Amino acid sequence: MSRDFVHESRPGRVVFAVGARTRLPEEIDRLGLRRLIVVSAPTHKDLVAELSDALGGRIAELHPHATMHVPVAVAERAVARARQVGADGCLAIGGGSAIGLAKAVAKDTALPIVALPTTYAGSEMTPIWGLTSDGRKTTGRDPLVLPSLVVYDPELTVTLPPRSSVTSGMNALAHAAEALYAPDGSPITALMAAESARSLAGALPRVHADPRDIGGRSEALYGAWLAGSVLGATTMSLHHKLCHILGGTFDMPHAGTHTVVLPHVLAFNLPAASQARSALKTALGATDPASHLFHLAQDLGAEMSLKALGMPDDGLETVVEQVLAAPYANPRPFTEADIRHIVGNAFSGAAPA
Ligand code: NAD
Repeated sequence: MSRDFVHESRPGRVVFAVGARTRLPEEIDRLGLRRLIVVSAPTHKDLVAELSDALGGRIAELHPHATMHVPVAVAERAVARARQVGADGCLAIGGGSAIGLAKAVAKDTALPIVALPTTYAGSEMTPIWGLTSDGRKTTGRDPLVLPSLVVYDPELTVTLPPRSSVTSGMNALAHAAEALYAPDGSPITALMAAESARSLAGALPRVHADPRDIGGRSEALYGAWLAGSVLGATTMSLHHKLCHILGGTFDMPHAGTHTVVLPHVLAFNLPAASQARSALKTALGATDPASHLFHLAQDLGAEMSLKALGMPDDGLETVVEQVLAAPYANPRPFTEADIRHIVGNAFSGAAPA
């Protein structure tokens, strides 16, 4: 096999350990930050209180106003507060929504981001930002929004409910799967993606059975770190395009939508992506990766139909129109009939075919 690739490593420090949050003060000092604005969702009040006690005078402002999909008005308010209090860094505590808000702040202010992820979404490892206005989500890439420091502490994920843990883990698996057939993948991203799929698929039954299983939580978060890394390093394909459209158009839950769509897109794409297919077969220990992931998620209690997640009965036409509106990377060319087939199956909750 002849090799031909480009690989670019991204800067950023990662600290990964059970209890790693206790190292936050020394890590913040290492970056020389003294006036942090702390962004989080309102639901993370207790965790924010615990961490801000430990950080003492390094905090200039608590800003617990993160919401899903980063509405422009929410972003503008956070940017204004960061400027008013003279923040020199932005500490994001939470899932993709809190980290997304920190990215919106960094995009406008160039403040460095420190992230403490509490889900498996992986945004902390990417230079991708997203903002929503009038029901439309805009995304882009900017090195300014890539966190300078990510502190992964599996203990922060034990409160994530079993079903959310499964769907969030499937969201991460989707990054790994699409990185395996990305047009700009490299041998390094392929290794990371395969290892990510292996650790996530092995860990999800464990965290579902016992959300406080710290070994399982550690494996899942490790897989999520790798998944976020390859999401940031490669170009995603049809699966991410479909989820972006579904989420933006019908305000559907992010991780749940990824969970439903992934097996159907893989059933379509893997026959045209032999290296990705064999990497996933090995990583998952399964002869049919698409069917394996469908049954894994279903057996762990995930909702497997887009209809149940809120897609309207007449939503298919809008999705088809938007998918076909702009060209998109994909290992297998698709037609309108293919999209109808994929989304139709995902809508009804049928097994991938
Ligand atoms: P989220 O941050 O909205 O969290 C989902 C829910 O879980 C929220 O209600 C939150 O309060 C709760 N939660 C989070 N952590 C918890 C914990 N440990 N215990 C209990 N509850 C907890 O959602 P998400 O799935 O993490 O992220 C989705 C968002 O991130 C979407 O807007 C998506 O577009 C974005 N995203 C962006 C990127 C990127 O690279 N830019 C990558 C992945 C996701």
